[in-house]
Amino acid sequence: MSEGSQKDITIIGGGIIGCSAAYYLTRHPSYSPETHRVTLLEASTSSSGGRTKDSISDPATLADPNTKWKRNPAHDGIAGGASGKAGGLLALWAFPSNIVPLSFGLHEELAKEHDGERRWGYRRCYASQVECRARLPPGFSSDESKITAADAETAPSKGLHKDHKTAIKALKKIGAPEDLDWLDTEQALVAYEGMGTPNNTAQVHPELFTRSMAQLAEEKGVKIVTGARVTAINYSKGGDSVESVTYEKEGNCETLPTTDCVVAAGPWTSRLLPNVPVTASRAHSVVIQTPTPVSAYALFTSIALPSGFPTPTPEKARGSKAAQGPLKRSQVVEPEIYARPDGTAYACGPTDQTVKLPLTNAEVEVDEARCDDIISQVGGISDELGRDGKVLAKQACYLPQGGPWIGPVGNTRGLTVAAGHTCWGIQNAPGTGKLLSEIVFDGAAKSARLGGCDPSRAL
Ligand SMILES: Cc1cc2nc3c(=O)[nH]c(=O)nc-3n(C[C@H](O)[C@H](O)[C@H](O)COP(=O)(O)OP(=O)(O)OC[C@H]3O[C@@H](n4cnc5c(N)ncnc54)[C@H](O)[C@@H]3O)c2cc1C
Repeated sequence: MSEGSQKDITIIGGGIIGCSAAYYLTRHPSYSPETHRVTLLEASTSSSGGRTKDSISDPATLADPNTKWKRNPAHDGIAGGASGKAGGLLALWAFPSNIVPLSFGLHEELAKEHDGERRWGYRRCYASQVECRARLPPGFSSDESKITAADAETAPSKGLHKDHKTAIKALKKIGAPEDLDWLDTEQALVAYEGMGTPNNTAQVHPELFTRSMAQLAEEKGVKIVTGARVTAINYSKGGDSVESVTYEKEGNCETLPTTDCVVAAGPWTSRLLPNVPVTASRAHSVVIQTPTPVSAYALFTSIALPSGFPTPTPEKARGSKAAQGPLKRSQVVEPEIYARPDGTAYACGPTDQTVKLPLTNAEVEVDEARCDDIISQVGGISDELGRDGKVLAKQACYLPQGGPWIGPVGNTRGLTVAAGHTCWGIQNAPGTGKLLSEIVFDGAAKSARLGGCDPSRAL
C-alpha cells in the first residue's frame, strides 16, 4: 500500500472507540490531511439521551470550568452512549490480555501528552472488593413498618467520618486502608480485599476523554458530523470492496464516497454488519457529588441488604417506580463505585434485557427506579454518597458485548470493525484505535497481536 494513495476513510460511531480510531488515524506516520479524508459520523446530536431531565448534562464544567477544552457544542452527541456513561476504570489486569498492556500504556502516554489529568480526570487509583452490610435508609425499619420522616431526620448519624479514630481502628481490623474513610466501618464494612494498586490501575472520566479524542482528531483534519445516522454501507458489485456510506441527516439522505469504512457503532454494530456478533444489555448508573472529594478507589461491592430495605427492581420489571415495598428477606447486590477527582462518585448497577436497544441514544429509556435502587444501596454503606451526597445524574446506556472485534471483516476490501468491547471498552479504546490505524494504513496490526479479537475467527 503506497503511503501517498488517496483514502476516503469513514468512521461510523462517535463513542470512545470511533473517536480513538479518529485520533490514531491522524497520528499514523502515513497520514496526510492532503491525501486522506477522514470523516466521523455520529447518529446523535445530544448526550442527554438516556439521562433523566433533572440530570446535569455537562460534566466538563464540574472538573474544571475554566479550561479551554470545555464542551464543544458542535460535538454534542459524541459519547452519548456507554462511552459517556461508563465508570472509566483502566487496569493492567483487565481483558483481553493481548491488547490490555498496549492500551493501558497508551492511556498513560495520552495523559502525559495532552494534560489528561486536568483535561479528562486521568489518575492512578486503587481497586478493591468490599463486602458490606447496608444500613436501612431513612424512613425504613427492619420490622418492615415505616417510621416517620421526622423520626428519621432526628435519628443520630452513624457515619464513620463522624469519629475518625474509631473508623481507622475498624478499617485496620479488617485489613482495609485508612483512607477508605468514606465507607461506614462501624456498621457497613465487613471484609476488604485489594485488587489493584496505582501500579496497575488508573481511571479517566470517559465522557471527557472521548470528547477530547474527538477534539484532538478534529484539530488534525478529521471532519466530525453529528446527527448523521448511517443507514447503509454500499459495496462494489460482487461485494469485494467498500464504495460509499449512506446516512440520514436532518431528514436528508446523503452518500459519502468511502474507500475505508471503520464500523465502531458499539451495541448497534450488528445492525450494519449482521455477521459480526455484537449484543447489547442495558445498564443504569448514577453520579453523586460528595461533600468533599473522596479517596481514589474503585470498589467492587457485595452489599447485603437487610429485611426492611427497599426491594431492588426485579430484572424484568419495566418502568416500575420502586413499587416493590420493603424486602422480606436479606438480599445481596453488587453495585460498583468509582470515586472521581472532580468531587463526584459514580456508581452502576446490574444489566437488564427489559428494553430492546432503540434506534439511537436519544431514545434510551431510563428506569428511574433502577437508579434509585443504586442510590439507596450505596447510601446504605456511605453517608458521603447517601445522606450527605447530591445526586447529579441518573442515566442508562447499552453495554456492547460479544467482542472485542478489531480488524477486517470478511474479504471486503476497506471494511473493518472495532466493536463489542464489553465492560473494558474505556480501558481498551486507545489500543483499539492504534491497531485500527495500522490496519488501515499498513494493512495489518503491528503494535499487538489481534488474537481472539480478529473478526475472522468469528465469521
Ligand atoms: C455501566 C457501565 C460501566 C462501564 N464501566 C467501564 C469501565 O469502568 N472501564 C471500561 O474500560 N469500560 C467500561 N464500560 C464499557 C464501555 O463503556 C464500553 O465498552 C465502551 O464505551 C464502548 O464504546 P463504543 O464506542 O464501542 O460504543 P458506544 O459508546 O455505544 O458508541 C457507539 C456510538 O455509535 C453511534 N452509532 C450507532 N449506530 C450508528 C449509525 N448507524 N450511524 C452513526 N452512528 C451510530 C452511537 O450513537 C454511539 O454514539 C462500562 C459500560 C457500562 C454500560
